[in-house]
Amino acid sequence: MKQNLLSYSKKEIATHFTVNDIEKEFRATQVFSWLYDRGITSFDMMHNIPIALREYLVKNFEIVIPKCHKESISSDGTIKWLLSTEENDLRFHIETVYIPERERGTLCVSSQVGCPIKCTFCHTGTQKFAKNLTTGEIIGQLLFAYQRLETLRIKQTFTSNISNIVFMGMGEPLLNYNNVVKAITIIISAKIFNITSKRITVSTSGIVPKIKALGNDVKVKLAISLHAVKDEIRNHLVPLNKKYPISILLEACREYYQTTREKITFEYIMLEGVNDSDDDAYAMIKVVQNVSCKINLIPFNKWDGSNYNSSTSERIQRFQQILKNAGYITTIRKNRGQDIMAACGQLKSNCNTSC
Ligand code: SF4
Repeated sequence: MKQNLLSYSKKEIATHFTVNDIEKEFRATQVFSWLYDRGITSFDMMHNIPIALREYLVKNFEIVIPKCHKESISSDGTIKWLLSTEENDLRFHIETVYIPERERGTLCVSSQVGCPIKCTFCHTGTQKFAKNLTTGEIIGQLLFAYQRLETLRIKQTFTSNISNIVFMGMGEPLLNYNNVVKAITIIISAKIFNITSKRITVSTSGIVPKIKALGNDVKVKLAISLHAVKDEIRNHLVPLNKKYPISILLEACREYYQTTREKITFEYIMLEGVNDSDDDAYAMIKVVQNVSCKINLIPFNKWDGSNYNSSTSERIQRFQQILKNAGYITTIRKNRGQDIMAACGQLKSNCNTSC
């Protein structure tokens, strides 16, 4: 069975070549340069690779760019793709979202099919967890988006590029730690993407031991799906809180900042009558003190079957003002791609309403 080359690091391919006595180590650098510096995804076009090695690669490896089963374009320009994974079975499809803005373009990638965390406000959480994505399937989302945006640019229907990557699609990235970290390492070294670690954000519901590891392994930006600052509320919204309560999570955030010197972003979904009172805002000020952070308030995006409603814009602004008065940088996230179910917390790949 052929292996997906996108799941391998350069070092792993170099080791594969030498251990199996196939080629010298430097050939791995050449192969990776074609792939990640020039965006060439056909072995036949890698002209400085000896023919025998090209034949070996064709026989044993493939470069799997996921197939797109549906492209949805929002009235605000956001694009959502329904992509196949290597299983090529609808139950294993994933969604990837591209959000163009004037100054930048953000690609929101998935790390799992479904999500085992099951946050009660999140549409993805209602989808049965099916699998962790391989490194190749994570990189495949980027290569697909890179090629697709290139095509749209040539057709002049589109001008922007990928400048930022957020692991905020389907799944909890830190439950797929090794594959996510390997993918980040590949992304940072790829000239075609031209993306530094400062332009990559990993969002987590709070897998505390892996937060600590992430700060040592790749110094990306960290976003915490906080959503409540009282354990009894967060236990319900983010069930993982029962394992890693808020005080432990916040301690891990402090350590992350000490290691990386990157401000933490706290994401806070605004749910009417659940977590949006003045009292909640004042409680947040106490909870996040001593963490270098900014706060992003997210109006709830409704999906069929959810029991929550978004806080009113007046309530969100009042909540924001309390935090701002206490000196915290606090933004309200713009809803992007709502009309195609591509906004925050709306992704779900095996659901007809999203397709
Ligand atoms: S918010 Fe994130 S961690 Fe929670 S269920 Fe949704 S995808 Fe999973």
